[in-house]
Amino acid sequence: MNGEEAISSNDGGQKRPREIVDDPSSKALKCETDTEENGVEAAKKVLDGSEEQLQEVSVDGDTASGSHKEEESQQPKEESTTSSSTPAAKTDDVKEATDNRTSKDYYFDSYAHHSIHEEMLKDEVRTKTYQMAILQNPQIFKDKIVLDVGCGTGVLSMFAAQAGAKHVYAVDCSSIIHQARTIVKLNNFEDKITLIEGKIEEIKLPVAQIDVLLSEWIGYCLLYESMLDSVLFARDKWLVPNGIVFPDKSVLYIAAIEDGQVKKERIDFWDNVYGFDMTPLKDIAIKEPVVDVVDAKALVTDAVPVLTLDILTCTKEDLAFKNPFKLKAHRNDYIHGLVTYFECAFTQLHKPIGFSTAPFARYTHWKQTIFYLRNTLTICNRETIEGEFACRPNAKNNRDLDISISLSFKGLYSQFEQKDIEYRLR
Ligand code: SAH
Repeated sequence: MNGEEAISSNDGGQKRPREIVDDPSSKALKCETDTEENGVEAAKKVLDGSEEQLQEVSVDGDTASGSHKEEESQQPKEESTTSSSTPAAKTDDVKEATDNRTSKDYYFDSYAHHSIHEEMLKDEVRTKTYQMAILQNPQIFKDKIVLDVGCGTGVLSMFAAQAGAKHVYAVDCSSIIHQARTIVKLNNFEDKITLIEGKIEEIKLPVAQIDVLLSEWIGYCLLYESMLDSVLFARDKWLVPNGIVFPDKSVLYIAAIEDGQVKKERIDFWDNVYGFDMTPLKDIAIKEPVVDVVDAKALVTDAVPVLTLDILTCTKEDLAFKNPFKLKAHRNDYIHGLVTYFECAFTQLHKPIGFSTAPFARYTHWKQTIFYLRNTLTICNRETIEGEFACRPNAKNNRDLDISISLSFKGLYSQFEQKDIEYRLR
């Protein structure tokens, strides 16, 4: 997807979090998975192999109970977008910032427009987790050299400066950096923050090494946009041995959902449109994963990890992967699709924190990603679906993701076996 669409989608009224958290230390960052066995149990096993540590990552210990009502944790279904395409893609073209830009200019630089930054900044689960991770850990920042990869408005750089960093280098290839420069001045950080316009892969840093690498690179379905590549590039080029990366862990999960009503509206719609057979469009629609809010009640199985990333050590090659999974139903129901969501964690802190984009966690602008199936599976409590989840950047446009899912199900009432169901997140 491109910047022009991004802008029109924003103009069309991006959905905002319904709940606002007043106090960063209150509850938003509970990673709410603490009340949900599936997310936490899986995370315990995979994030870094330490059960105890993981509980801390998923549960921001010293604050209020992480329990939440399902209805409150996400936007209501009817408020969510029904668009089957993903919102703004992060593009990497550099443009001169002027007040005379047209939508054609934005096509090449969706990050130049303030609306995409507004959406990210208003995502308090996202922004306050970073804020807490930084401000509550001045020992990590004091007198340290920090690199902010993709600084956008400069918000993370300013948090780092507030936390006592010796100097912050803030890099962005979008013309939003011109606004960031003004913002940094306005907030009296010009002595502490140096803004550098350009791609991280192409710029020259005035220092040989950095102590802390900050970046918010996270895309839909975790890896959409492939910006993590740029973070790994910066890590390998400048980070001191045993340096700090914010965040340093992430896990992508998959689960199966009952979603008959919405699938009917989105996919089966094409079967009969004013009496006409439009199924060629159904074939196209079903291949596009849908970024939208999934109700926690729609989950029919547990959720299991399909990717666990240690951002301190992983390589670009690890971002193209194929992993098996096994899902177990927790009730009798029908399955219309699969859903992915992810967790990100800052585990190098004095007290690890993180956030989850699970259907049972608070709303984030990443929502969840749904993969509809052509067939409906009838599943009984405790029956299992085995599968394989493969994901890699598209060969022509590496910001898009090619995802292929294989499934094998032998239930009492239905059987299903299909290899390599292809999807493309664009
Ligand atoms: N750090 C900001 C913005 C995050 S969005 C915040 O947290 O609010 C990601 C930003 O990274 C965008 O502004 C985009 O232009 C920038 N970006 C993406 N790839 C980049 C690259 N290779 N080099 C420099 N900047 C990049």
